[in-house]
Amino acid sequence: MNELIYLDNNATTRVDPAVLEEMLPYLTEFYGNPSSGYRFGQKVGKALETARERVAALLGCEPGEIIFTSCGTESTNAAINSALQMDRDRQHVVTTRVEHSATLKHCETLAKRGHEITWLGVDERGQLDLDELEKSIRDDTAIVTVMWANNETGVLFPIDEIAAIVRRKGALFHTDAVQAIGKIPLRLADAKINFLSLSGHKLHCPKGVAALYVNRRTKFAPYVIGGGQESGKRAGTENAASIVALGKACEIAGEYLPREGREVRALRDHFESTVLAQIEGAQVNGDSEHRLPNTSNLSFESVDSEGALMLLDQHGICCSSGSACTTGSLHASHVLKAMGLSEERARASLRFSFSRFNTRNEVDRALEILPKVISKLRRLAAA
Ligand SMILES: *Cc1c(COP(=O)(O)O)cnc(C)c1O
Repeated sequence: MNELIYLDNNATTRVDPAVLEEMLPYLTEFYGNPSSGYRFGQKVGKALETARERVAALLGCEPGEIIFTSCGTESTNAAINSALQMDRDRQHVVTTRVEHSATLKHCETLAKRGHEITWLGVDERGQLDLDELEKSIRDDTAIVTVMWANNETGVLFPIDEIAAIVRRKGALFHTDAVQAIGKIPLRLADAKINFLSLSGHKLHCPKGVAALYVNRRTKFAPYVIGGGQESGKRAGTENAASIVALGKACEIAGEYLPREGREVRALRDHFESTVLAQIEGAQVNGDSEHRLPNTSNLSFESVDSEGALMLLDQHGICCSSGSACTTGSLHASHVLKAMGLSEERARASLRFSFSRFNTRNEVDRALEILPKVISKLRRLAAA
């Protein structure tokens, strides 16, 4: 096996060693229940509050606005569910055709249960038409849910503008910010956002822990019902060690943010410009101006992306075709198809996503291997 070159950081990320170190004592020594009345339990309770403060600091909101959950999918489900519980007369949902399956599949299920869903399309850059969005919001709209950054293309939606439109029209607004957190600066205190989802494993924290921001003036109906944990907003004994990890991961992400914008972007741009210069018939998919600094989604004319993934894997390179959730299925990426790309170009696309743990040396090795893999596949296809 070759040395691993992990360029799939939008699928999941390596746990930062400092994050692991911070969480370990809560898996060994400090096993008290955070809801217990004695000091041994309260020590864990205090650690949860420190984590809440750290998450809030990264988001620019108040600690009381953070609810810990089990995954980004649970957070997005909980936000939409809450909005639908609030008002019997508001049961319409507005979303986009390029959401992550956490939102997409949930909305498809809601449609089967009788909810009306408006699916907003995107243009060839992957951008929404904000007039169309405004017109889609009705008197019976419960919630508008639009992702901040697309996991496949990295395309950023103008969330502050969208949130202002939704607020003016009187509906609730949720944004799936799982890919945006730690990659772009944001401040919720000034935003007109009711709910925001983030997930630990996309920002160098272990899998299975996440958070939902609920604006303090927004009413919330819990999704997981039981004990009074998380101020009664999310029952179940907290995953203490992982929550401590999420707090640390957010603290580090905040410190690293200015460098993310420069250094990770520099790696991505070096990779992308070299590929475009060296490989004929390579093109960037999506709005390259309004985009995450770490993502490059490229199509390679006459190349089957599944074959490319297999050959790259043999060289130790991890990347993806479409999102991880659609890999292995026969469908081309719903995001690229929504952008109007042909089935053929969508099936010839690869996503490379970088993180602060990638090195220039790794990127250069990937740049040596990729052109060979693409030529080999083209030779095979022509034969
Ligand atoms: C990964 C991801 C999710 C799901 O988060 P999980 O913690 O894996 O459930 C949701 N939305 C986006 C945009 C993602 O990239």
